[in-house]
Amino acid sequence: MTQLRQSKRLDPMSTRNTDWFWDEAEQGRLSIQKCTQCGHLHHPPRPVCPDCHCLELAPAQMSGRGTVYSRIQVHYPPPIGFDEPPIIALIDLEEGVRLISNLVDATLDEIEIDAPVVVDFELSAKGKTLPVFRLASKGSGA
Ligand SMILES: [Zn+2]
Repeated sequence: MTQLRQSKRLDPMSTRNTDWFWDEAEQGRLSIQKCTQCGHLHHPPRPVCPDCHCLELAPAQMSGRGTVYSRIQVHYPPPIGFDEPPIIALIDLEEGVRLISNLVDATLDEIEIDAPVVVDFELSAKGKTLPVFRLASKGSGA
């Protein structure tokens, strides 16, 4: 993985159900929880498959490609850890899972609904790897 951009963001909250997600990000992978019994992908992570109630869940690496379902820019109250008001987006991954993430290196006006996006990673203030997304039309930015 190339040198990641440093941010001032706070670390994600560590929990027994989500630590694996951040560990995958540390390895440069965007992974989503998959039920080993029915194959259902779901996010955010949880201890039980919401479809079949199976307890056997495993990380499944995603392509990192998706489209913008919706987006907003948060101005007030000023979020901690951001120099500029961050853009928060609902991303529809091509595998069929929707997740919330930050969309970086674009203005709100540049981000159209259904715009193709790709995952990228940046570092929190303390060095934790965080998945973010950028417009596919703008390249990797690295
Ligand atoms: Zn299941």
